Amino acid sequence: MPTLQSHAPAQAATSEPFQNEPFLDFADAANRSEMETALQEVASRLGQEYDLVIGGRRIRTEDKIISVNPARPSQVVGVHQRANLEHVETAIQAAETAFQRWGQTSAQSRVDLLLRLVDLVRKHKFELCAWLTVEVGKNWAEADADVGETIDFLNFYAREALRLDRATTPIQFPGERNQLRYLPLGIGAVIPPWNFPLAIMAGMTAAAIVTGNTVILKPSIDAPTIAARFFALLEEAGMPDGVVNLCPGEGPDFGNAVVEHPKTRFVAFTGSKAVGLQIHERAARTQPGQIFLKRTILEMGGKDAIVVDSDADLDAAVEGVVASAFGFNGQKCSACSRAIVDASIYDIFCDRLAQRTAAIPVGDPAKNLPAGPVISQRSFDKVLDYLQIGKEEGKLLVGGKAVETPEGGYYIAPTIFADVLPESRLAQEEIFGPVLAVLRSDGFDDALRIANGTEYGLTGAVYSRSPEKLERARTEFHVGNLYLNRKCTGAMVGAHPFGGFNMSGTDSKAGGPDYLLLFTQAKSIADKVGVVSRATEEEEQRMGL
Ligand code: NAD
Repeated sequence: MPTLQSHAPAQAATSEPFQNEPFLDFADAANRSEMETALQEVASRLGQEYDLVIGGRRIRTEDKIISVNPARPSQVVGVHQRANLEHVETAIQAAETAFQRWGQTSAQSRVDLLLRLVDLVRKHKFELCAWLTVEVGKNWAEADADVGETIDFLNFYAREALRLDRATTPIQFPGERNQLRYLPLGIGAVIPPWNFPLAIMAGMTAAAIVTGNTVILKPSIDAPTIAARFFALLEEAGMPDGVVNLCPGEGPDFGNAVVEHPKTRFVAFTGSKAVGLQIHERAARTQPGQIFLKRTILEMGGKDAIVVDSDADLDAAVEGVVASAFGFNGQKCSACSRAIVDASIYDIFCDRLAQRTAAIPVGDPAKNLPAGPVISQRSFDKVLDYLQIGKEEGKLLVGGKAVETPEGGYYIAPTIFADVLPESRLAQEEIFGPVLAVLRSDGFDDALRIANGTEYGLTGAVYSRSPEKLERARTEFHVGNLYLNRKCTGAMVGAHPFGGFNMSGTDSKAGGPDYLLLFTQAKSIADKVGVVSRATEEEEQRMGL
């Protein structure tokens, strides 16, 4: 088992203020060349088999998960083990054993692990980008944003963990020494989605372990190779065995069983509303032998809207809507899937939007084309169903069909339906693909009413030049992440703590100052001064002694 002490501490790194990782500039020939080399290198490693890792022990199962490239589904990216019910108890035990030491490790040691991981993720940045391209179909900039956000989460939570470790009570009661200690919860399940398979997976895992918990990590079956690469870096960084246990498996069997286990104290989940609600319910049911209330951190879907007001800068609004709706093919929880456009500019806006969207090149993300495939056959079929629904509910402006390629990738043309009514399925249900509904609003009141008229409340944006309307949006647009005169995707760690209202989740605000609290329990300790412990000089002064 690697020891944490074998690595040099990294206090210096956390004494510097947090800064977001800069984006790579792929206009730079050197970066382009590095990315191409990384893609070639990754291509030579496709189809390898990866282990299940529980308590440091490598396990192979008979049943496998085969991960394929959505741009060419006959290409196997990785072969993974399939954790099943027989692995649940072993994984819980490994996490429990590891917790006995990890939960007692100093915050600084845990932070040091994250900082060493930052160095490794940076060192392997292009390689990780390449895996993101081949496993989930991200173009280069989207892949780089995912890796950058991963580095940001690690760096940010490292600093936050030290801040929590220094916490005190707001008041010192006379005659006492008062402390507030943030303790870990224990064993947790981390269940990430496939769409930010590195950043969200790493962010939830890092938050859990830097606060002293141990984890059963169940990656999405659509992105297990990226999780395996991340896990390998965690091991290289010196993570003790069992602190994170890598268990790719199906949600409905392995995932459910881990959620329900009486020793699982928390579940950090990001994914769809349907699955989030199931986890919420299952985790709430007390199991025989369970001695605590399980904590659930649930970040779910969205039906995010951009309001384009009558006095908006139309060029900026068109660009913002296109980037938010079609970046990574609309497969972001924050993606704009509704543009709510004032009637006075509706026609001209639709014309410009359609023109701009029709010009988006569709094709292989490995060649860095902007619009790549959707993630899977299942997703492809689902989006095609919504294209049918859209043709019944709205007016097709652009797209509306699959795009065939010789490799059989899951491509769908960026699609816009106009004249969609607020209560229609296209305007209410999360599609999670490159499909935008345009809705007509009759003034700003109407726009806000439509914007707030779904069960979700994740992100939203308003394009307007009116300070009064922007102020109204600040209070009346009911979303967890509001953007004014900019796109509604691309949240930055630290600047835009992320999490949604209503059926979008528990508003956990990942990448913000409150996030780590969700993985801890605070213990208040009052020590009567003078019995065993002597008052310090400062305490004597305060108590007037
Ligand atoms: P999903 O809900 O299908 O799966 C998410 C994870 O849950 C996967 O690891 C999956 O294997 C697991 N799972 C499935 N059924 C389970 C069960 N019964 N018990 C336990 N685990 C189970 O979502 P997805 O398709 O991977 O991701 C897309 C969804 O995630 C979209 O709805 C998107 O909006 C949402 N999302 C939300 C955020 C956010 O921050 N709010 C961020 C990214 C994605």
